[in-house]
Amino acid sequence: MFITLHKRVLNLRNALVTAHGNTTERHVIEISVSEGQFCGWGEAAPLPGFGLESFEEAEVALERWVQDPEQLPVSPTALSGAATALESLEFAKTGASLPSASIAVQALVAAVAVGDVETQVIEAIESGYPAVKLKVAATNTDSDIERIRVAAAVTRGRTLLRLDANGGWSSKEALDVLSAVSGDDIELVEEPTPDLTDWRKIVTDTGVEVGADEHLNSPLETERILELGAAQTFVLKPSVLGGPKSTRRLASLAKEHNVRVLISSFLDGPIALRAARDLALEVAPHEIHGLGTAALFVEEFPEDVRPISGRISRP
Ligand SMILES: [Mg+2]
Repeated sequence: MFITLHKRVLNLRNALVTAHGNTTERHVIEISVSEGQFCGWGEAAPLPGFGLESFEEAEVALERWVQDPEQLPVSPTALSGAATALESLEFAKTGASLPSASIAVQALVAAVAVGDVETQVIEAIESGYPAVKLKVAATNTDSDIERIRVAAAVTRGRTLLRLDANGGWSSKEALDVLSAVSGDDIELVEEPTPDLTDWRKIVTDTGVEVGADEHLNSPLETERILELGAAQTFVLKPSVLGGPKSTRRLASLAKEHNVRVLISSFLDGPIALRAARDLALEVAPHEIHGLGTAALFVEEFPEDVRPISGRISRP
């Protein structure tokens, strides 16, 4: 087996402001593994602030794997990229191809200013997105309440509204903000606080359901979430969870516990987005996934991962 690594930088049109900090560009390592005429692809792209390895660590781990392909990398994004490439190689060897299909995706809005939130949500609706996810908890609670109210006023009756706090609120802040907007239709809030034991009370008191995301990087915390019934949705990111097999495993575990599954991009490049699209089609074909992120980049992504009328399509 022959492995190659290729580094590239993808630039975001606008800085993405989240509770983990600002992101302006993505450093990506594209991975190809080949055996004879067959080739598989993967991608590793750590994002600072999300509790993963650094880019340099991912690079070192992958370079070690190039030298010794029997030893898979251990760090999360390097492993996910390697595992994705290997699975895609195995699939290529079967000579099969997956059927044409498309999947619904959400638009991501992280604008800070209320006016920009309104403009971007309107644009998303006009582009045909069936859901909009608004990043919250990166500024202050008053601004969040205002931003959510504006987004809710625009989305009401037209498209779903989801929130993602990336664990940036305290329990009190989460309860304050979500109670203030509880009359608005909010489909879910991802990671409202860093402490998963807060989440049940948030659901009970505010009526807003919780999605787990960052916590799912830890098997122990995943188990705890299921034990406590702390989340009603799992947002699975194949590019940090160890690749397709681990993601499938988590998706089955979630379904056994009546937890809904959404697949999400980690601001991925085209290769990881494509792999995530195929997983979404496999494990939850009727949900609206967090895979509309190609539109956020300056670089034009290939057509098969670019959202058109709120869907991405496998040819
Ligand atoms: Mg999230």
